[in-house]
Amino acid sequence: MNIHEYQAKALLRSYGIPVSDGRVVLKAEDAKTAAGELDGPLWVVKSQIHAGGRGKGHFKEPEAGEKGGVRLARSVGEAAEFARQMLGRTLVTIQTGAAGKQVNRIYIEDGSDIDREFYLALLIDRQTSRISIVASTEGGMSIEDVAHDTPEKIHTFTIDPATGLQDFHGRRVAFALGLTGAHVKSCVGIVKKLYQMFVEKDMDMLEINPFCVLKDGTLRLLDAKMAFDGNAMYRHADIAALRDETEEDPKELAASKFDLNYIALDGEIGCMVNGAGLAMATMDIIKLYGAEPANFLDVGGGATKEKVTEAFKIITSDPQVKGILVNIFGGIMRCDIIAEGVIAAVKEVGLKVPLVVRLEGTNVELGKDIIRKSGLNVIAADDLKDGAEKIVKAVKG
Ligand code: GDP
Ligand code: MG
Repeated sequence: MNIHEYQAKALLRSYGIPVSDGRVVLKAEDAKTAAGELDGPLWVVKSQIHAGGRGKGHFKEPEAGEKGGVRLARSVGEAAEFARQMLGRTLVTIQTGAAGKQVNRIYIEDGSDIDREFYLALLIDRQTSRISIVASTEGGMSIEDVAHDTPEKIHTFTIDPATGLQDFHGRRVAFALGLTGAHVKSCVGIVKKLYQMFVEKDMDMLEINPFCVLKDGTLRLLDAKMAFDGNAMYRHADIAALRDETEEDPKELAASKFDLNYIALDGEIGCMVNGAGLAMATMDIIKLYGAEPANFLDVGGGATKEKVTEAFKIITSDPQVKGILVNIFGGIMRCDIIAEGVIAAVKEVGLKVPLVVRLEGTNVELGKDIIRKSGLNVIAADDLKDGAEKIVKAVKG
């Protein structure tokens, strides 16, 4: 689960980590008051969307200005004007995809005088099963480009969970960033708090870009991207409350309400499968036969008819879907339940694309019978290979 920058900064502030003072604005008419509460002489007006690269992004509507989603203002009036221009507009960045994201919130910050910009991130390294700290002197720019062009400028430190983060880890990070003197001590303090927060709040990723030395000699975090482990949200009501559903894929949101494991993908064949392993195998075999899956969907072992109906509705609501493959191995899940769910969903939303159904396992004959008698235009398949071949043929001819 992701949160907005201004929410991440409030959390950082609560841990005593240095961030700028700021105000969040939802309506253009509130921008002037908000900016007026900050000192100046510099204000930063920041579009709040769940995607990075805002500074270098552009708005779809030219009247929103061409300078991107993060702008520096020299007066309260200018800050308010930038906020007005950005609100409600669609911001396109390298992370949003071509469709962009609508800006519904603006964060106005007390602007900082930057001396140096660094990159700092904490993440879960799946290779070592540990938390890693990634640091680079090349802050403020796309870290992907740094990793590609000058990988030697990226330093990674892995933390042993048995010892946790020690001062020496913090010092290594500080030295990797070229910090000296009092900055080293400040950096150690910040890195320790970041680590504590990362663990306590069950984060997946915490990215600070840029982490800055300001002209006044202090250290400050000017941007923050935070992602949390969705499976841990039951024990963090305060974090769960920060969820902004308007930032999420509506199909994934609907799926999460029905406790379905659904992930939208770019292909044309919708898949409804039970079991994550079978779902992966189904996606693989679709690719093998020359098409692309439109989604990953595991309806789970004990799915009800209602859940299956909902899953089917989510798949058909995707305009990219040109065909559907239902592939169920009924172990705990019964084939007749799946058949009833599919039929109920088709009756409700209609079926405009070819549908291939492969059922196997518990109550398979009953399931097949239900589908046969429904009068639906369903292509039956005998096994995984047969099912994949048939749906790809039906879609691609
Ligand atoms: P991103 O483009 O989505 O990563 O958004 P950032 O919050 O990183 O802002 C983009 C850039 O704006 C940063 O890399 C900084 O160079 C600049 N910026 C952000 N805050 C300030 C500030 O307080 N003062 C100055 N001078 N520049 C800032
Ligand atoms: Mg940034």
